[in-house]
Amino acid sequence: MKEKLYTIEVMDALKENDECPCCYLERKIEQDTISFVLGASYMEDDIRGATDRAGFCRRHTKMMYDYGNSLGNAWILKTRMEFIRKQLSAQAKGKMTAPAGVKGPVAGIHSAKPSLIAKLKGGQGAKGIDGGKDGENWMKASEHTCYVCQKFADTYGRIIKTFLHLIRTEPEFLNQLKASKGFCVPHFADLLKACQEEFSPQEEERAVPALYQLMEENLNRIQEDIDWFIDKFDYQNQDADWKNSKDAVPRTMQKLVGTYPADPVFKQK
Ligand SMILES: [Zn+2]
Ligand SMILES: [Zn+2]
Repeated sequence: MKEKLYTIEVMDALKENDECPCCYLERKIEQDTISFVLGASYMEDDIRGATDRAGFCRRHTKMMYDYGNSLGNAWILKTRMEFIRKQLSAQAKGKMTAPAGVKGPVAGIHSAKPSLIAKLKGGQGAKGIDGGKDGENWMKASEHTCYVCQKFADTYGRIIKTFLHLIRTEPEFLNQLKASKGFCVPHFADLLKACQEEFSPQEEERAVPALYQLMEENLNRIQEDIDWFIDKFDYQNQDADWKNSKDAVPRTMQKLVGTYPADPVFKQK
C-alpha cells in the first residue's frame, strides 16, 4: 500500500506562518490524540489495549490530567495499573517478556542501524527496552513508552517524508518554504538528516543550501527580536516601539527547543 502523505496538512501548517510548521503539526496531533483517547474511544477494547501496553509519558500524563474527564482518566488508569501489576508479577516469577505491542527496535532483534525515518516510526516507545531481561530495565523502559508520543512519532515520519516529496516534485514548494519563518532547531535537524538520507546528490544540492539559508535568516530575525526585548528595558528605550519583540521570549524558546510555552492549558471543550 502506498504510504499516506500529509500534503494538505503540511500546506495548511505553512499558511499559519508559525515559527515552525512541524511544531504546529506536532501540537495538533498531540491535542487530537488526547481528545481522542479521552473522548468516547477510551471504552473501546483495542484503544484501551493499546493505552494499557504503552501508558503515557510524564508530559502527556500531565496533559491527560489537565484535559479533564476524570472518569475517562480513571478507566484508562485502572486497566494500565492491571497491566503493570501483571507484568510485575510475571517478573517476580521470572517469566518476564518484553511488553507486548510496544513497537520499535528491541536490542538483540534489530541489529542494523535504523534510518532517521525508521527511528521516528519506532517512536520513543522503545527507548531502552532490552527484551525485559531484568525487572529494573522494563520498569525504566515503561517510563518512556507513551501512546501519544508513539502516535506522533508514527505520523511525524510521514510528515517529514511529505516535506521531502514536495521539495522533490513541486518546484514552487521550495519557494514557499523560503517565504516562511523556517523551522525550530530540533525539527530542522530532523528534516536535514532526512534530506541527506533520501535525496540524490542533485536534489540535495538544490534543497539543502536553501534550507540552511532559510534557517540562518530566521535565526538572525529571532536574535534581533530577543536583543531588542532586552534593550527595551533600558530607560532610554522606554518610549520606543516594541517592534516584533513583545512575544520574543516564547518565540525564541520555540525556535530553540520546539515548544509553545505561552499556550494555555489544553482542556476538554
Ligand atoms: Zn518545530
Ligand atoms: Zn508522551
